[in-house]
Amino acid sequence: GLTSGHHPPATRTTCGYCGVGCALDVVTADGAVTAVLPARDGPVNRGHACVKGRFAHGYLTSSERLTRPLLRRDGRLEPVGWDEALGHVARGLRAAVAAGGPDSVAAISSARATNEENYLVQKFMRVVIGTNNVDNCSRLCHSPSAAGLTASFGLSGGTDTLDDVERSDCLLVVGANPVEAHPVVGARLLRRALEGAALVVADPRAVGLAAHADVHLRPRPGTNVALFHGLAHVLLAEGMTDEAFLRARATGLPELTELLADYPPDRVAEITGVPAADLIAAARLYGRARCPAIVYGLGVTEHLHGTDGVRTLANLAVLRGAVGTDRGHGVNPLRGQNNVQGASDMGALPDLLPGYGKVTDAAARARAEAVWGVPVPERPGLRIPDMFAAARAGELRALWVIGEDVCATDPDTNKVAAALDACPLVVCSELFPSETARRADVVLPVASWLEKDGTFVNFDRRFQRVRPAVPPPGGARSDFHVVHAVAAAMGAGLGCPTPAAALAECGRVAPVFTGLSHDRLDREGAVPWPCPDPGRPGEAKLYRERFATADGRAHLAAAPYLPPGEHPDDDYPLLLVTGRRWAHYNSGSMTRRGPHLALDPVDFLDLHPGDAHRYAVRDGEPVTVESRHGRAGLIARIGEQTAPGQVFCSFHFPASGVNRLTSGHADTVTSCPEYKVTAVRLVAT
Ligand code: SF4
Repeated sequence: GLTSGHHPPATRTTCGYCGVGCALDVVTADGAVTAVLPARDGPVNRGHACVKGRFAHGYLTSSERLTRPLLRRDGRLEPVGWDEALGHVARGLRAAVAAGGPDSVAAISSARATNEENYLVQKFMRVVIGTNNVDNCSRLCHSPSAAGLTASFGLSGGTDTLDDVERSDCLLVVGANPVEAHPVVGARLLRRALEGAALVVADPRAVGLAAHADVHLRPRPGTNVALFHGLAHVLLAEGMTDEAFLRARATGLPELTELLADYPPDRVAEITGVPAADLIAAARLYGRARCPAIVYGLGVTEHLHGTDGVRTLANLAVLRGAVGTDRGHGVNPLRGQNNVQGASDMGALPDLLPGYGKVTDAAARARAEAVWGVPVPERPGLRIPDMFAAARAGELRALWVIGEDVCATDPDTNKVAAALDACPLVVCSELFPSETARRADVVLPVASWLEKDGTFVNFDRRFQRVRPAVPPPGGARSDFHVVHAVAAAMGAGLGCPTPAAALAECGRVAPVFTGLSHDRLDREGAVPWPCPDPGRPGEAKLYRERFATADGRAHLAAAPYLPPGEHPDDDYPLLLVTGRRWAHYNSGSMTRRGPHLALDPVDFLDLHPGDAHRYAVRDGEPVTVESRHGRAGLIARIGEQTAPGQVFCSFHFPASGVNRLTSGHADTVTSCPEYKVTAVRLVAT
């Protein structure tokens, strides 16, 4: 591996936890990781890293790691050799296609896996199986960002880099808790605020940055669109818009202006609970700044109208001329998973090919067909929730789940389990015996981020190299190896035998990646896309000349506020919001293993002192949370950071039953679950 001047020699790689993309130097001795050091020359982290990247590697040697394939026989999962497992998978996939056609097979690819692995999974599904039934877990988090940013600006990614955001004089941080969920970003934003940038935080909770905010807006969960319209109303009413920019580079102003007449601060205050004076103060900070930036998280996307939320938030940047110009740093989603951007970039999506060509677009299909040598199916495939519905209806005969514990993390998990039980062949590629693995017919043991070769794309569109620091344990193999092996067991070849060859081939399918290669990334460290030319830098800041929409303009969205799917009532008087905490990562399957767990050993239910009193809940004691969909057991933690009438818990401890609480409501455009708004009640235990 490369070294960064530390001794002993270390392997330079990219963190496999959140989407910040910290460069890390992994020190090993005798084939085991002994330390993980933040790289001083890391393009994004510059010598910083958080508790997850630095210390959460105990899972590597956990005795629970899967090291042999498992096959279900007589109802029990038993260890078998790779040949037997692969033969079973190949026969099962062939039988599914023979009985129900290619569309009776589906795969859930992984935002944890490398770009090259995602490229290979979607190619396998489209070329070998012949279906577009491939999706990735961005469906559950940032699919509204992809849809919303594409509709507003033309490309599915943040508009600027984190470095730009650091030069901003006003930060609008919405629906995100970067101090805990993306700590390196949280630290950089906080430093910028302490240097004097104005800080507006919009979040129902008193998240870490809120203590330093000039204005903290605390909207009721599910009312974002009204909040953003209220801010836009003030921008227009007080003449804080960029008229020349709007004339030259945007469309939709008359329709939006007409709509915004219905969102004066007083009305918005009624809907959102945010005092009109706070709304006006926030709009003035954003509206009068020299160079404002918007950073947002899952508090914007995981809603019934999440795509409308992204689009109406983007309206603010367009109204101010603060995107695609030097007068602002655009609109930037904080991605939760290391490669959630890359999994979508690579076309692990049912309607989009690598580089975001639509499967319904003959020209995009022709580009892929010229490289792959077979026709690409034209009909968009199933999204993750539709895969489960199809399985329950008996229409899905085989499902391959890669690196996602769908039984623990998807909403309304009882229905997911029923779907897996109804599907004749469930194949699960996993590190650990997850809830999903326990229900699978075949379990394939795979490598984790510290054990494989490839690239990730971080939250600001930067490709960076991933390099193996240690080998995978026992018989575990990389997903890259496994996808090739399944194809080979079916008698098919996928080409691109190495990860470097896969990225090179992807560049031939998708012009936005043509200039990227492993060699180049080894030399340059990080390169953002779009990057069509190997001899020129990628575009860190988008849309300087024109937006990537068909007409080259930014599109303002005149979407009315529509209420969330759930409301508090007499039976379920509180609103539950779910999110992340500092020490843990997603389902916790990695961070809850090894010594790391000691940092944050149980999941809490945060609630306001007034509600604790009302419902006779005591600090530190067990409490049962019930929704219309299920129940969960947590430990009460009383504090002012949670607003009255709301409760908060993480999704890192699925065994507590948190995702049995959440509803089946989902974003009307992208099917992203409404994880942020569930009506619940408390029962003291
Ligand atoms: Fe950096 Fe995120 Fe990894 Fe922490 S989890 S080290 S912030 S990439």
